[in-house]
Amino acid sequence: MSFQSYTAKLIDKKTVKPDIYILTFALPPGQRVDFVAGQYLIMHVPQKNGEFARRLYSMANSPDTDTIELVVKRVEGGVATKYVDAMKVGDEMAFQAPAGVFTMKDGGRDIIMLATNTGIVPFRSMILDEVHKGPLTRDIHLYWGMRRFSELYYFDEFEELAQKEPRFHRSRAHSPHLAPVHAIWAV
Ligand SMILES: Cc1cc2nc3c(=O)[nH]c(=O)nc-3n(C[C@H](O)[C@H](O)[C@H](O)COP(=O)(O)OP(=O)(O)OC[C@H]3O[C@@H](n4cnc5c(N)ncnc54)[C@H](O)[C@@H]3O)c2cc1C
Repeated sequence: MSFQSYTAKLIDKKTVKPDIYILTFALPPGQRVDFVAGQYLIMHVPQKNGEFARRLYSMANSPDTDTIELVVKRVEGGVATKYVDAMKVGDEMAFQAPAGVFTMKDGGRDIIMLATNTGIVPFRSMILDEVHKGPLTRDIHLYWGMRRFSELYYFDEFEELAQKEPRFHRSRAHSPHLAPVHAIWAV
């Protein structure tokens, strides 16, 4: 697999939940990451010995946008977590992309997406991409499970999308089958 190397500048950092960051990066003018919705990038995390550790993060944005959006869940004691904790607007991040084969196939079949926590990230990219291409020609059902309803992020955005797109179907349910996940939200 051949990746391209990039350096992008952090232009926005939001702490949307106590353990969830949403980061937006800008590439140099004229550059864009050529990827398929659902793919991920390989973040290079600088180490003291001058080398770097690699950590993988799915692109949350759709491929048609100029900026890159990442969702990073804090993992206590994690190498990339410490790096992202310290990241400030204006800092640069080196990465390689695109990687991964978890992408949506064209076709007429309805789609069911089932995710917990940051598993939502590649699905968000796919949903935004499908919507960007025009009115949906098939139904998309997104089931997103968290321990508590209050842990959901991107909630308002998905609510709005569901209002605009009749082929999103929204309901809320609690699933006894996915314990300990007991808040399931479906679009
Ligand atoms: C395809 C793919 C896509 C992904 N997309 C996302 C995404 O969109 N968002 C996201 O948040 N994550 C995503 N991940 C997970 C992400 O790549 C990282 O694994 C995660 O963020 C943790 O990285 P970290 O460097 O912070 O933690 P790590 O440094 O990898 O540490 C993980 C845990 O292990 C412990 N640990 C580390 N070293 C040791 C040791 N020597 N002894 C004992 N314990 C140790 C740490 O304390 C920590 O609790 C994805 C993973 C894959 C495979």
